[in-house]
Amino acid sequence: MDRETCRRMDAADPLRRFRDAFRLPEGVIYLDGNSLGPLMPAVERRLGQVIAGEWGRGLIRSWNDAGWIGLPARAAARIARLIGAAPDEVAVADSTSINLFKLLAGALALRPARRIILSERGNFPTDLYVAEGLAGLLGRGHELRLAEAGALMAALDEDVAVLLLTEVDFRTGRRHDMRALTRAAHDRGALVLWDLAHSAGALPVDLAAADADMAVGCGYKYLNGGPGAPAFLYVRRDLQEQMATPLAGWMGHAAPFDFVPGYRPARGIQRFLCGTPPILSLVALDAALEIWDEVDLAALRAKSLSLCELFIALVEARCGGHGLHLVSPREPERRGSQVSFAHAEGFAIVQALIARGAIGDFRSPDIMRFGFAPLYLRHEDVYDAVEMLAEVLNGREYEDPRHRVRGSVT
Ligand SMILES: *Cc1c(COP(=O)(O)O)cnc(C)c1O
Repeated sequence: MDRETCRRMDAADPLRRFRDAFRLPEGVIYLDGNSLGPLMPAVERRLGQVIAGEWGRGLIRSWNDAGWIGLPARAAARIARLIGAAPDEVAVADSTSINLFKLLAGALALRPARRIILSERGNFPTDLYVAEGLAGLLGRGHELRLAEAGALMAALDEDVAVLLLTEVDFRTGRRHDMRALTRAAHDRGALVLWDLAHSAGALPVDLAAADADMAVGCGYKYLNGGPGAPAFLYVRRDLQEQMATPLAGWMGHAAPFDFVPGYRPARGIQRFLCGTPPILSLVALDAALEIWDEVDLAALRAKSLSLCELFIALVEARCGGHGLHLVSPREPERRGSQVSFAHAEGFAIVQALIARGAIGDFRSPDIMRFGFAPLYLRHEDVYDAVEMLAEVLNGREYEDPRHRVRGSVT
């Protein structure tokens, strides 16, 4: 595979026009959209207008006049299409961690005789911490049971109240079989809560087809909503009226502007809101989501697989003999939209790559992660990034002491 072939693939790419919707700095190949999506000029424009006009001049009138109060629901409807949900099954609010807390608490109350939250040992730590913290807070003997991915089915017994899993593993990119695991959990009477942080905007998700009960996900990764963007949550329609949020706040009240002393939950998904929505962050997320209305998710997946396959093939062909090994599944259908390689010098290699302009990231202890966001990455970029990686390895650039300094965020 040479550079010219990559360019021809890009010329035939049905998604190529979307790249112009992103502001990518000159000289940067961005392989970290799985951690923080890049800025879109449309987001910058919208934010500028909202700050000057709606906030600056409209002031409090903008809650009604500019439709701020309906903004969470509008953003939610855009996300619904990406995850196989109906608009009234998704809410945009809070962070992924907080949404997880709300839904997990609501779910445990639906299975009062059961005490186990089952998750995977390698799950994203915040998911595990939230579960542990909630179990402690409830003080009724709930326990977080952790199993290796391959042992989840065996660990699913009649004590499990909720199966809490992330569809795409943040370290390796391995993708769970959402349908099979959901069915197995339902067969044993458990509810399932899926974390879609590395799925939404990375690949088509079909919560309805999987018969998923609940889900949460992230606004600042593949959805490009900006650092700390609001997150989303999903509750299947027939569960909504049975479920309560532990964070009963006025925005989830049936009549927030009646200012009555007693809490009465709103009907439907609205009840999972808590406090006032962060309008500036929501504006950024909503503006970033607009592009997705035009994206064919099957084409997105096809391009994602093509970029990932190319990356694996090129790394193995050009960087062999340096001790890299693939930790992502080799079968494309078992991967999300990222590829990870392990190497003892992984941290310094990633730093040396970043110094050359190819931005990936590192996850302890030895994993180099490369995310492939199909809306703005080209096959040509993949080719160039692998050339840089080969140069970093051949020239032992990672031995440079300046590539060994760790910041507080990795
Ligand atoms: C990124 C990520 C989160 C982030 O949670 P925040 O509350 O936004 O910090 C949660 N879960 C998974 C699986 C993630 O990858």
